Parts: sequence; C-alpha cells; structure tokens
Amino acid sequence: MNRARLLVFNSALPVLDYRVPEGMAIEYGSVVVAPLGPRQVLGVVWEAERLPGTEVPDAKLRPLLEVMPVPPLPAPLRRLIEWTADYYCAPLAAVARMALGSSAALRGGGTMTEYRLTGLEPKRLTPQRAAAMDALDGEQATIRELAERASVSEGVLRGMVGAGLLEPVIVDLDRPYPRARADFAQPELSEDQTAAADRFVAAVTKGGFAPFLLDGVTGSGKTECYFEAVAEALRLGQQVLVLLPEIALTENFLRRFEARFGVPPVLWHSSLKSTERRRAWRAIVRGEAQVVVGARSALFMPYARLGLIVVDEAHEVSFKQDDGVRYNARDVAVMRAKFEKAPVILASATPALESMQLAEAGVYEKIDLPARFGGATMPDIQIVDLRSEQPERGHWLAPRLVKELKARLERGEQSLLFLNRRGYAPLTLCRNCGHRFQCPNCTAWLVEHRLSRRLACHHCGFETPPPETCPECHTADCLVACGPGVERIADEVREILPEARIALVTSDTLNSPAKINEFVEAAENGMIDVIVGTQLVTKGYHFPELTLVGVVDADLGLEGGDLRAGERTYQQIAQVAGRAGRGEKPGEVLIQTRHPEAAVIEALASGDRDSFYAAEAEARRDAMAPPFGRWAAIIISSEDEAEAREAARTIGGSRPDLPDVLVLGPAAAPLSLLRGRYRYRLLINARRSAELQDVIRTWLDPLRFSHGVRVAVDIDPYSF
Ligand code: ADP
Ligand code: ZN
Repeated sequence: MNRARLLVFNSALPVLDYRVPEGMAIEYGSVVVAPLGPRQVLGVVWEAERLPGTEVPDAKLRPLLEVMPVPPLPAPLRRLIEWTADYYCAPLAAVARMALGSSAALRGGGTMTEYRLTGLEPKRLTPQRAAAMDALDGEQATIRELAERASVSEGVLRGMVGAGLLEPVIVDLDRPYPRARADFAQPELSEDQTAAADRFVAAVTKGGFAPFLLDGVTGSGKTECYFEAVAEALRLGQQVLVLLPEIALTENFLRRFEARFGVPPVLWHSSLKSTERRRAWRAIVRGEAQVVVGARSALFMPYARLGLIVVDEAHEVSFKQDDGVRYNARDVAVMRAKFEKAPVILASATPALESMQLAEAGVYEKIDLPARFGGATMPDIQIVDLRSEQPERGHWLAPRLVKELKARLERGEQSLLFLNRRGYAPLTLCRNCGHRFQCPNCTAWLVEHRLSRRLACHHCGFETPPPETCPECHTADCLVACGPGVERIADEVREILPEARIALVTSDTLNSPAKINEFVEAAENGMIDVIVGTQLVTKGYHFPELTLVGVVDADLGLEGGDLRAGERTYQQIAQVAGRAGRGEKPGEVLIQTRHPEAAVIEALASGDRDSFYAAEAEARRDAMAPPFGRWAAIIISSEDEAEAREAARTIGGSRPDLPDVLVLGPAAAPLSLLRGRYRYRLLINARRSAELQDVIRTWLDPLRFSHGVRVAVDIDPYSF
C-alpha cells in the first residue's frame, strides 16, 4: 500500500487519506498515528472501497507518522463495527473507538507505575494527604487514579512521593494469566444437561456460526451446560467471551468458573484499574486471554481467535446501552458470532419475546432444560391480593406474608423480600405545605436514603443532605416519607421480627466485590434470616436454605405503561421466585399485587409461561412492536429548553411521508429534563428494519442544528 484511507478518531472529518511512507508496513486494521492540521490523531486503516470519502490526489497527501505496536483490528471485527454503525445509525468512529479500549493501552511499553503507602508516618498530615492515604487503603494505584479517587491534585501526591510516604511499584502488563484447565473439575451432568452440552460442544468442535437459545428454568444448571462448550473451546485453543449483565453477578460467576476450570477468567468491565485494563487488553489482542468475562463493552474487543460467545441472563435490559452508541449487546453478540463464524449461546430462564420468536422461526436452535437440577422442585407461587389482605397502616407486608416470615424464622430457614426500589422512600414531601423534593437536574423526585442521610436522584446522582426546614414554608422537621423503598421494608422486618438477622442488599450497600462476597458467604452459611433486596438479588444466586420469597409490590413495574413493562415484570418476578427452594426444601413465593387479574400475574401464578408469551405476542402485534414491527426513537436534547424544542420542531417538520412509516411526536421525552438537558422525542414505527434506518438517515443527514443541540437515534428502544 502506498496510500491509506483512515477511519480517524476525534475529528470532524472521520475519513481521511494519507500517504504511506517508504518502509512503513501497514495492513487493513492497522492502528496508526497521522497528522491532522497541527495535531496528531489516531486512526485505523480501512478498506477504501468500504469507506466513502473524497479522493485526494496523491501529490497532496500527508504521510502517516507511525504504526502502533499492536495487532491490526481483524477483518471480522471491522465488519462488526460497520454493521453496528449502520444498524444503530451511529458514527463509525464512535463504534471503532470501543474496539480500541483506551488508546493509552496502545502506547507505552509493557509496564506501568503504581504507588503504595510506605507506612512512614507523615510529619505533616494535611487533609489532602489523609484523603489520599484513606483512598489507597492498602492497595496500589496510579497517580492519576489515586488523584481521582481521593479528589486531590496530582501535585499533592507527587509531594507525598517526595516525602517518602508513597513508593512506586512497577506493574508488568505482560505478566501471563494462569492457564485454565478444561478438565479441572468436570461435573456429572444430568440427562438433559448432557443433551444440551453435547449440542454446544459439537458446534464448537465444528466451528462456524451457530446461534443457540438455552431456555432453562431457574436452577436447571444452565451454567454447567455452557461450561462444557467453554471447555471444548479451551481444548481447541480458542478464546471465549462470556457476557454478564452486571458486575454484581460477576463475583458469583467467578467462584463457579474457578471451581470448574481451576483459575479465574480474565475480567473486563468499566471499573477495572488502568493497569488491569491494559493488561487484559494486551492479553486479549494477543490471544493469550482464554476466557474473558465482561460487561457489554467486552463485545467490541479485538480477540485474536474468538471461538465461542455466551450471553448469560440474555433477557436482561442492562445489555441495552442507553447513551453514546445505543446498541443492544445481546443482538450485537449474535452478529459478532456471525462475522467470527463461531457459536453463540443466549442463556435465560425468561427469554425475551424476540429471542423466543427467532427460535420458533428456526433462526436460533432452542435447547430446553425444563426441570431443576438434582430433583429440586419449582416453587409454589401464591398471589396476595392487597385489596382484600391489607397490611397494617403505614406498613407494606400483608398479614399472610408476615405469618410466613415468622414461620421461616422459627424453622431456621431463609426468606427473601424483593422490592425494586433503592432507598427509604421514593418520594419525600413537607407535611405542612406539601412541597415535593425534586432533582434540580432531572424531572424526578429525590429519593430519601436514610442509611446515608441523603436525598438522592437516581438518574443523575445529585445528592443533598435532608434539609432541616422546608425550602418553601420553612417549617422545621417537616419531612414525610411517602411509599416504601428497601430500607423501609428492612425497618418493617426489624419491627416484626426483632430477633431476625437481616441483610439489606442494594447497590448502595453492596458496592464492592468484597462486600458482595461477604454477603454471599453469610447467606450460604445460614448467617442471614431475611434478605431484603432490589433486583440485585433476583439473579444468579443459589442459597440452599432460602424457602420463602415475598414480592412486596408486583405492580411497580407495570405502572410505567410502556410496551415492555409486562415482559420486564414477568422476567423480574420469575427470576426472584427462582431463588426459592433450590435446595432440598421446597420453596414458596408470595406475590403482593392489586391487579391479580393482570395477564402477567396470572401467568406467574399458574406457572403457565406459554400463555404469558402468547398474550405478550398478541399485545405486541397490536402495537406493531418488536418482533412484529420496528421502532426507533429520535431524542433531541439541549441545556436550553427553547433550543431543544426548536430543534425537535425542525425534525418533526421535515418528517418523511411514507405509507409504511409512522412518526409520532415530537413530544416531551419521558424524562423531559435529564442531567440538566431538556429532552424531546419522536417515535418512528416501520414494518421492516432496513427501511427504518434508511428513512432516518435520509431524514436527519441534511438537517443542521445549533451547537448545544444533541440528536441521538435509538434503534429498538426499550421504553416507548
Ligand atoms: P441456572 O443458572 O439454570 O439457574 P445454575 O447453573 O445456577 O442454574 O445451577 C443450579 C445449581 O445446581 C447450582 O448450585 C449448580 O452448581 C448446581 N448444579 C447444576 N448442574 C450440576 C451438576 N451437573 N452437578 C452438580 N451440581 C450442579
Ligand atoms: Zn437528577
């Protein structure tokens, strides 16, 4: 190659041509440094014919500066990047960016410097120094990370190095990961499991694209089945990617993985330290990382030889990314497998309707595990009609649920109460004037967190101490909590069962791997009588002594009224119900509701999953919703409300007039103010997907907006 077309990052012009200087070896996918005006930019060498741009004559080309010392992005990944950008109407460079991890990982050699405490007592202990020492807490971190964590300047830290309080530690980024062993501890599989595992193993051995839907009830042993496929990939020297919906689940998974394969897998998620991140990235691109377990961002990494992808809890909404490039990791995982020519397993006890339909249509091979492993039975599910069985005044647990909780405590068994609401109360108001505390940045109420003595916004993270007097009428001690959050339910349990050992499980209380492990160990060893938790406890855990699950408010998720509310409620309650009776003792589930007649609640009560999917399919067909029709959203936002409204009007005014395309709006978006930005939304519905993206591109591409306006396209949005 003597000229190269680049996909350039951080530039208004994402496609630029360069001259390749004599002696510089590049190929498609090479990551290079190029001059752009007075700056230097990073880019990826792309097939010119796949990347339209204006032809610049050879004589005018500037030369490339440098090739980064990393393997080029492989062709299947380049095709995935193109597909993702195209399907989700996202800029190509923004998608490619995800494949590079941090560009910092590209530069520099194989080491980094972290710092740890020397143990020397400081002669002068300033508050900043104390903060840094606290933040380090026996660990080591880079200067930049430590500065961020302790909210001090890097100067303060350099001063501490100079004073001998911190000492450098050289971290070897190419330190090899321990090798996983395919046959470390192979379990005896049940008949159903063997059948499933055989199919997966055969697909891995054979190679080639093969999408599976592993549909197994809670406790059926899905993990053990796909572990056999992982083992086969390891034997063949291939890499495996396992996607998990949230970091909270990872700890549990790691323990099981290590028990099966002898060593932990390689982790990839947003809260890794930069040394861990770079080490993982380097091992992944070289093909040395055997099994990578990660959040959705792990999907775009340049694996050297990916042989299998597993998406566990594939129905989870957190696989949908809702800012930046708005993609659904479940769907992109299938596409990645297609480009890599590898099998992909979507595992779930409550698959999304879209996945079920694809399986029915024969696109996915469906593998069923209809029974729990080891003869454990499915729990008995009962409905508590809150209209006739009312909790005491100011309480939230119905008498029947209270009675069952007491019975469990007497028998030494465990109970779990589920309410998907963090904090003490979802709404706080002034008892004198009725003033409601609202987030200054969002259209959302502030949620009272009593443990941390804060009012907090769950959308933007805004926090404030509870005011002593009402800002409106200045009455003192005026706050009243309205409605329950998990903290309040825990209080109620404390009142009913003063002797019970209670664990409150939310992202506020279990905010580190250590705390999660501590909780899991306590729960497994019978040190906890009642677990009160949010969706954090609905999935993955296996507590043998847990025999009662109480769903405090089954109607919570149904209130939003969006099209997926039914499915989400079904999944959440089926998952949490699935925690009961996994050991030898049978489980019981009480679902508190005011709508026992709702299709979701009836399906849960009768255990008739098919009837739920049938009802859900009908509702979606009527609404032209997926998988029967395609939706997209255009979200227009600005810090200036008038500017946002104006841009939304402009877009609405140039809407296409096509027979198969329906455009709704613009209207204020559901969270009409979010993180200080005013938001408007248009919804677009079409019969076929290809059409929809083209329509949107043709529609939006010619439009120009003022600087502060952001226009985002959300294909297959989750809430509408
Ligand atoms: P699921 O993910 O389908 O809900 P799990 O994979 O968590 O189910 O399995 C449920 C429990 O049964 C786990 O504790 C798991 O270790 C155990 N289990 C599953 N299969 C086997 C097996 N073949 N041998 C021994 N234990 C198993
Ligand atoms: Zn907010």
